[in-house]
Amino acid sequence: MSYRSWFQCMHCADERYPLHEVIYQCRRCGGLLQVEHDLAALSQRSGQAWRDLFDQRYMRTEYPYGSAVWGKKEMVCPAVEDHNVVSMYEGGSNLFWAERLGQQLGVQDLWVKQCGNSHTGSFKDLGMTVLVSMVKQMRADGQAVPAVACASTGDTSAALAAYCAAAAIPAIVFLPKDKVSVAQLIQPIANGALTLSLRTDFDGCMKLIQEVCHREGIYLANSMNSLRIEGQKTVSIELVQQCDWQVPDWVVIPGGNLGNVSALGKGFAEMHALGLIDRLPRLVVAQAQNANPLYQSYLRDFSEFHPQVARKTLASAIQIGDPVSRDRAIRALRQFHGVVEEASEDELADACAQADRTGLFTCPHTGVALAALTKLVRRGVVGPTDKVVVVSTAHGLKFPEFKVRYHEDRLAEQGVTARRRNEPLELDAELGPVRDAVRRALDRG
Ligand SMILES: *Cc1c(COP(=O)(O)O)cnc(C)c1O
Ligand SMILES: [Zn+2]
Repeated sequence: MSYRSWFQCMHCADERYPLHEVIYQCRRCGGLLQVEHDLAALSQRSGQAWRDLFDQRYMRTEYPYGSAVWGKKEMVCPAVEDHNVVSMYEGGSNLFWAERLGQQLGVQDLWVKQCGNSHTGSFKDLGMTVLVSMVKQMRADGQAVPAVACASTGDTSAALAAYCAAAAIPAIVFLPKDKVSVAQLIQPIANGALTLSLRTDFDGCMKLIQEVCHREGIYLANSMNSLRIEGQKTVSIELVQQCDWQVPDWVVIPGGNLGNVSALGKGFAEMHALGLIDRLPRLVVAQAQNANPLYQSYLRDFSEFHPQVARKTLASAIQIGDPVSRDRAIRALRQFHGVVEEASEDELADACAQADRTGLFTCPHTGVALAALTKLVRRGVVGPTDKVVVVSTAHGLKFPEFKVRYHEDRLAEQGVTARRRNEPLELDAELGPVRDAVRRALDRG
């Protein structure tokens, strides 16, 4: 069986382009493109047969099918030949049963999909493996693609730099100066990418990179490039796979540029169309109150959408006021009877600290998602017996400054009260004071 896929305009069904074409928007209407698959070919195999095939490949060694992205290759990007796939065995991340946190929040069946447990520490690896593999295929076919570039809030650039380094493809990244963590900044530097730290915000970097890519014939790796969406959509497939193909009631996702919610929506919709699942979950997008254009739009039933200048937020990877994938995201939210919720700086920091106390080590974006969930449970939107999966987007170890400042109670300026702070005690190395400290902690006076 041969499988085909192509770029197609979200609005004009007859505007189609091959996947190796360097194009991100419809030539006729300027709308975003999506990768579409030959669903007739894919449905030659039953839903059960696809599930069996995916289970058989999952986390095994046959390259590249042990990757949770490439294990779904037929539905992701069949155009890349196996030997051109650039994979670091992405996916296969833990679905953490947040039993204790769930009890505290009032949801019995709470799971955290740990997408940050990944090669570069965020879910961006899932999309980048597809994009960089396609570029490798294009270069192998003799197409001139001199470099790949992205604007980033820190995680896209880390993923791009790593995959390009593995494939010996030049990478260029634009980062907003002082708006990414030290860990995020050093990742592309270490991987040898040309790293530009620009005196602007993410939206400013985004405008510039498009211009530079256009003029220099460089391939653009931002999520307006829908190849990345194909890789990211495998989170939806993998998480139901990890639930023995049962669909949760809710999936909660922190959203900035809104590529990820679009990706998960696309994954669920395609699984449904192909009979892998028999119902759809409801989607929740969680935004930081300081960068909440989608939330504002949601309050008006999506009848209008106003880009903003995003204000500073601890959830720096979603400090985006003019999200590229907003049309895709709104379409997905409508289809999935979705909800948008916001979280203040205090709420997101508190949610992180609470989750960490139950064994997680959350990034601030995951905190936004958990804070949003907390509010939805309190309001009775999410019920106590609903099965909920929260998508954790990055590893907490990428954001040590945030954690340290929280526990030192140095986030007051951001409006955060560190109610759950845990201070290290610095003591002389002597039995007396050490023993006293231990006894005090154990309430033995
Ligand atoms: C990119 C990113 C997001 C936001 O994803 P979008 O697709 O831009 O909505 C959230 N959290 C982290 C850690 C990210 O890196
Ligand atoms: Zn169009």
